[in-house]
Amino acid sequence: DAGLDSGPDAGLNSADSGWFTEVFDSHGSAFSLKVSEKLHEVQSPYQYLEVYATATFGHLMVLDGCVMLTDRDNFLYHEMIAHPALFTHADPKRVVIIGGGDCGTLREVLRHPGVEKVTQIDIDEEVTRASERFFPALVESNDDPRAELRFDDGVKWIEEADDDSIDVLIIDSTDPVGPAEGLFKTDFLRRCHRVLRPGGVLVQQSESPLYHSGSIIRELRHDMREAGFDSVATLPFPQPVYPSGWWSVTLAGKATDVATFREVEAAASEMPLDYYTVEAHRGALALPPFMRRLLND
Ligand code: SAM
Repeated sequence: DAGLDSGPDAGLNSADSGWFTEVFDSHGSAFSLKVSEKLHEVQSPYQYLEVYATATFGHLMVLDGCVMLTDRDNFLYHEMIAHPALFTHADPKRVVIIGGGDCGTLREVLRHPGVEKVTQIDIDEEVTRASERFFPALVESNDDPRAELRFDDGVKWIEEADDDSIDVLIIDSTDPVGPAEGLFKTDFLRRCHRVLRPGGVLVQQSESPLYHSGSIIRELRHDMREAGFDSVATLPFPQPVYPSGWWSVTLAGKATDVATFREVEAAASEMPLDYYTVEAHRGALALPPFMRRLLND
């Protein structure tokens, strides 16, 4: 038991008095989970990683004081970052995940039988090691011969990747500060466009619809178009443990329309999923009016 004190970089966030609290100071809100024990902590070269046992959400992973995932609700995020993009692409064979070190996204991608190879590039090996120990369900597909795990900077990896070599590129990153800052820059998106084949789909986690529609999401969509993508779609979905309890992914298409998807195949697939359905995908594409207004679309 490493105790319940907060880590050196946790700032306002802490696990005092049996509750882990993440404060979203700029939004005047916070989120707490009742925790019983700190199971693990490590300062990696990139970030401060903690794992807690919670009272009702299973294990909790925290990076630099920010909640990354819990056993109980990570299916929402992992299914929505993987399946809309994979069912939007006409025939995804080559998939790359930047970030995603917990391996939950990788597991979802590998459910698609047509996928021939998935490379995951996370900057921080400690995230994957912690997932292996404390989130065994997320790493259960890591031995799939189609999966390749690399530990490197995603910005650098994309810089060095071949033109027209990837079908679906998934940016499953932390927030746009620290090591993930470069993953939200126009230059990076231009390189993503270059490495995708025509018909390729980029998907990026894009923060809270409630808190960030008029800022991060709007800028990301603008930058995706600047980078050469022809179509853009932001899909909101619930995520109780993230700021505002609501999250989003944004898809961008290279010579393809990301507002349509392979509905017949999605409906016929027999993946054992807990959130993603054809109807959930269609519903997520129907942007609420407040978002449309803030996104200036
Ligand atoms: N679901 C989470 C969320 O939205 O907050 C993200 C989960 S995942 C654990 C995020 C990963 O992005 C981390 O493991 C982190 O190491 C990785 N990451 C951050 N910057 C990166 C970079 N430049 N290249 C590769 N991976 C990066």
